[in-house]
Parts: sequence; structure tokens; C-alpha cells
Amino acid sequence: MRKKIVAGNWKMNLNFEEGQKLTSEIVNMLKDENVKDVTVVLNPPFVHLYPVKKLIGDTPNLFLGSQNCSDKTSGAYTGEISAAMLASFGANYVILGHSERREYFKESNELLTAKTKQALAHGLTPIFCCGEPLEIREAGTQEEYVKHQLTESLFGFSPEEMSKIVIAYEPIWAIGTGRTASSDQAQEMHAALRAHLAGKFGKDLADEISILYGGSCNPSNAKDLFSKADVDGGLIGGASLKSRDFVDIVK
Ligand code: PGA
Repeated sequence: MRKKIVAGNWKMNLNFEEGQKLTSEIVNMLKDENVKDVTVVLNPPFVHLYPVKKLIGDTPNLFLGSQNCSDKTSGAYTGEISAAMLASFGANYVILGHSERREYFKESNELLTAKTKQALAHGLTPIFCCGEPLEIREAGTQEEYVKHQLTESLFGFSPEEMSKIVIAYEPIWAIGTGRTASSDQAQEMHAALRAHLAGKFGKDLADEISILYGGSCNPSNAKDLFSKADVDGGLIGGASLKSRDFVDIVK
């Protein structure tokens, strides 16, 4: 059985107090709701990580992740945060290759291999993002485009390493736009990605990999999206900043 995962990506939002309030609300709501079969991950900005970890405490099924990590191990890299540092205070996940990082911070497929290696070496589960821009979707070549992202960044890993990676498919035209992919579009891509992984790593392994959907996911469309056979949960941006919406998506 694949893990069902809902991960909140706060992006560069919320001050200290707001982050504490949001986390406390989510912790309290999750305690009351029956969502035991879902792995929930909060991915706040770096400065929130430790205080958020404290608030999460031993809440069942609730985990901490960051939104990025360095491709370097340690040393003179001013402003960088290593996977080892994140792991040292109990972070479990790290989002890598988000389209905003690929676009604004010029992260290449090659750099993302190095970051994924760092994450795996320190026991963090990478949530590896992929997805096509609008012009590629309009040209109808989205499957080739996204498969290529996976091939270039991940196909050098061993099956054992690959089995520890979570994939998030996030069509760029759906991120923060309110224009979500239809559940059929999501299923089509997720099935294509799973088949692509099966071609390289074998069907059994591909069947174990959670593939999340991201892009304008909200409480009204989550049920339809997550009902699809190859959609194993979501990576949630805007709606993860509102406790009720986020927990409703988890439910
Ligand atoms: P969104 O963002 O839910 O606000 O569209 C998703 C993401 O970028 O991870």
C-alpha cells in the first residue's frame, strides 16, 4: 500500500506568531479528526522549522519538512542550510525542485540530483517536484517534458534510493492560479510517470512510490483529485495557510 500524503507548502509566508498559530490550530484539529491513514507534512520557511517541530510534538502522523536544502554537505557556503542540519532537529521531509526554485533560482535537473543525494544521505524524504509550463501543455508534449525531468534528476539513483523518494506533479499553470488540473489530467500524468518509473526501476517499486498532485488544490476539489488511482495525495500551497482548509483537504 502506497503512503497517502498531504504536504503543506507555506512558501515565503507568515511571521513567527502567525506560523505558531497556524501550527497549533492544525495540531488541535488533527487530534479531533479521524485521519490516521494520512501522513501530514508541514513545510514552513527555515526559521519556523524548530518552533513548529516543538508544537508538532508527538502528534500522530504529523511530520516536519523544509522547502529546500543545500546541495553541499557543510562549510563555507554563506546563507545555505544543509540536509544534515535539518535532520539534526527532526525534520523528516524536504521539498526539492519546486517550479518556483527552478524558475527564480535557476535550479537545474543536475543540481537537483545533488540536493536529492544530500537529502537521502541524511535520512530526509525528498518530495521531488516536476511539472510543465503552460506552453508545453498547449503543445501537448507535457508527458515527455515531465518524464525528462525525472530521467535527468533521478534515474541515476539505485532502486533502494528511488524507493525513498516521493514525487509531486505540479503543472506550473495550475500553481497559485486557481486553475487546477482536472482529476483526469492529473490521473493521466500520474499514470504516465508511474509507468516511466516502472520502466527504469520495475513495476513493484513504481507501485510503492507516492505521487502527489499540486496546483490550486482546495477543499472542494481535493476529494475528486485524490479519488484517482494514481493520485496519492497533494502538495498544497495557498490552502495550507488556512488551518480549516488544510485539514479539510487531509480529511
Ligand atoms: P498552490 O501551490 O496550492 O497555491 O497552487 C502549490 C505549490 O506550489 O506547491
